[in-house]
Amino acid sequence: MSPSSDAPFELFIGGRDVPGTRGERQTLLDPSTNEPLVQAAVGSNDDARAAMESAERAFRESNWAADDGARRAKALFRLAGLLESRLESFALLETRNMGKPLRESRGDLGYVVRTLEYFAGLADKVEGASIPVPGPRLDYTIREPLGVTVHIAPWNYPLLLAVRSIAPALAAGNAVVLKPASLTPLTAIAFARLAKEAGVPDGILNVVLGSGAEVGEALISDARCRSVTFTGSGEVGQRIAELAARRLVPLTLELGGKGPVVVFPDADLDRAAKGIGYGIFQNAGQMCWAASRLLVHESVRDPLLERVRAIAEQLRLGPGTADGIEMGPLVSREQVDRVLGYVEEARAEGAQVVSGGGRATDPSLALGNFVRPTILSGVPDSARAVQEEIFGPVLTAGTFADVEEALARANATSYGLLGTVWTRDLGNAHAFARRLECGMVVVNEAPITFPQSPFAGTKGSGVGFEQGRAAVHAYTREKNVLLNLGPAKRKG
Ligand code: NAP
Ligand code: MG
Repeated sequence: MSPSSDAPFELFIGGRDVPGTRGERQTLLDPSTNEPLVQAAVGSNDDARAAMESAERAFRESNWAADDGARRAKALFRLAGLLESRLESFALLETRNMGKPLRESRGDLGYVVRTLEYFAGLADKVEGASIPVPGPRLDYTIREPLGVTVHIAPWNYPLLLAVRSIAPALAAGNAVVLKPASLTPLTAIAFARLAKEAGVPDGILNVVLGSGAEVGEALISDARCRSVTFTGSGEVGQRIAELAARRLVPLTLELGGKGPVVVFPDADLDRAAKGIGYGIFQNAGQMCWAASRLLVHESVRDPLLERVRAIAEQLRLGPGTADGIEMGPLVSREQVDRVLGYVEEARAEGAQVVSGGGRATDPSLALGNFVRPTILSGVPDSARAVQEEIFGPVLTAGTFADVEEALARANATSYGLLGTVWTRDLGNAHAFARRLECGMVVVNEAPITFPQSPFAGTKGSGVGFEQGRAAVHAYTREKNVLLNLGPAKRKG
């Protein structure tokens, strides 16, 4: 399947491509040119219901949940293998749809393969416990799949963030309904077809396209929905929490961030600068965990900023499919306006533009959604550019005089996803990591994670967690069984 083929991208329900009941289509644009890329179906409430029904039936009637986990493991390992063998075509599809450089898409797809393998390995290890209780009794627990789980994904890592929650849900024996972001549905559809090829029974993995407001809400509100995993903005996350609360459905919310990067005077400035550049300009800064808020000790501010500026100015911007490109376009025109709106507002509030600050200057990029890597300094802490998630290649740089000031400012936003600390003093690193109000802390490296490590936000960045062993448990219900084994026999 390639975006140039004539076959429209459709919904995937019950193991089949379906056009959607209303027969509506939308044209997706190439973010590097804003030329039409491909047509994709737009689903409706009725399609959401059909997907839920198909999932519920497959959960009841197929052997997916009932089989021993080793069979699910095999199917998921096969899926990982198939994806690995087609990694290049999936990466190309992701890049064409979303815009990021091909080498980043390859990395994302590699991460998807690894995630599938990790959770495949856990599919036959979903264990309960045997619990000592008084008397002639046996008490034990069973972990059962929940049933139909709903997953709503954003556009910044389209397949990666979908599979991050789908893989443990499938490993635990659930039937899944995924709604990808309207802007980036292509790899999710291709992935669902691949799952069928790998032997995942029809109806166990369904993909419904369509708007969040219609299809997303219909999925969560459906009586068959047993859990919701949402990755996206805080605003939509709150709405989803309200809908889930009405039905008392458990939920996981992975929301935005405003990651502090704290650089102490003893840090290796060359490494720190590279890490900072990567942490904000990778994926053109469209990352929940972007290291977007630099706080550097005043004694090393100038040498550090000079290094980061040099990195920003050397980054090669261009279409994600071209060779050697280091930063692609933003996903849409709306996103460009949003990002530059923050920059303009910060400027009006007195910020200095250390680098970038506008659209790409190369005329060959004029039609695409290209924004130059941007560094702002002197932005007041109260400014929206410091408090809110910009979701673009924009770093704000501030200074601190001592540890307490660094900590107070690092913690002074409503978010708490990932914080970064650069220092050679590991005692300081540990102490600081403990006091950071973040779900994740990285020391002396750019933001990084692995399928085996928990991924979680605190405060406005989310509820619950993903990844790690326990992620499989989050898609199970623990049942306690207590057996009375007969009258107690007295000794003697
Ligand atoms: P978004 O606008 O919140 O949308 C995310 C998903 O929710 C999309 O599939 C969207 O569908 C759907 N949606 C929208 N309104 C809905 C509703 N009322 N009910 C149900 N679903 C609804 O987020 P985005 O703009 O795609 O992504 C950017 C945001 O995601 C940023 O805030 C970023 O920080 C966050 N994010 C968080 C993480 C993390 O792990 N913490 C990772 C990546 C991104 P449509 O596409 O049809 O609108
Ligand atoms: Mg949105």
